[in-house]
Amino acid sequence: MGNEIDHHVTHAMRGCIRKCAFCGTWKIEPQRHYKTSEELQKELKTIAKNKVIFFDNNFLANTNVKSILEDLSNLKINGKAVLCESQSGFDGRLLERNPELGTLLRKARFQNIRIAWDNSFSDYLSIKKQINYLTIAGYKAKDISVFMVYNFDIPYAEMQKKLNYCKKLGVQITDCRYRPLEAIDDNYNPQKIEGQTENDYYIHSKAGWTDKKIRTFRKKVREHNIWIRYAKDKGLFYDKKMEKWSAIHNTFKFFKMGRPPKLDTFEKSPTWSKRLKMMTMVKNKYTKDNISSSGLGNLTLGRFDEELKKIINAFGKNGKKKTSIITPPPHPKSALLGES
Ligand code: SF4
Repeated sequence: MGNEIDHHVTHAMRGCIRKCAFCGTWKIEPQRHYKTSEELQKELKTIAKNKVIFFDNNFLANTNVKSILEDLSNLKINGKAVLCESQSGFDGRLLERNPELGTLLRKARFQNIRIAWDNSFSDYLSIKKQINYLTIAGYKAKDISVFMVYNFDIPYAEMQKKLNYCKKLGVQITDCRYRPLEAIDDNYNPQKIEGQTENDYYIHSKAGWTDKKIRTFRKKVREHNIWIRYAKDKGLFYDKKMEKWSAIHNTFKFFKMGRPPKLDTFEKSPTWSKRLKMMTMVKNKYTKDNISSSGLGNLTLGRFDEELKKIINAFGKNGKKKTSIITPPPHPKSALLGES
């Protein structure tokens, strides 16, 4: 269905200036390498995509970051500005040292901003300052997310304190479940309520983590994010309906179909209810297999339904159907599993 990959994935730097205990970057990429802005501009102009996703470990640590951001803000591809995103959280300590970086990130059109809060609760004033710099730069707190490693050395109760502080700040959380770099498999099943053991996936019992605590923390983060996105500004509390709405919203986002109809449309209309079921099936399968939605959402609803049916039938026959495959480069932080 056409050339669906609308973005370019790249690194502006490799390695990292830090040595966090849970991260494999500094072991896998001991040498640091920084692209210059000229090198990056040449690459982006050659690839000519209007969206760029950086897989840098620590984007702000690049010694050329200022000129990179300034040049990105002026870059035009096909006569249009370029949107940027960083797959990793920004190192907020660097932002704190140089708050101007917040403004430069905004000018360079970085979206879905995340900062990292991987260490103890005692860093909360620092985190507050970092969020403040980003909001001064023009980002809304509810659109900022805080990366947090859990199932590692910080115990559950302290993670809960961090979560509560994010509530106060009005920011979302991107939770990353730790597993050791050397782990060769991970059979964590998010559908289970509890009952998996260390035989299924890595549980950091040394710091008191259990299967139950891991699932409870995940659930709390999910509910927190839904509350921030849909309820907080309206003075409402989280409720289950919002969770349903959030899932529908994400499904529509996956197919690039804009805002979904009202929730009761899905409850009252058998056509919409059936369509949503098929969309969810295709989305789940495509997400698992790293496949993009291939512009399906641009079809008329009638053609869209036909395409969904064909794809689901093909799953049945072939196990999986592949159209446009986005294969991101391996990331040394892959020992951390983000599940938000
Ligand atoms: S977690 Fe981030 S800051 Fe820490 S070593 Fe890894 S890449 Fe660097």
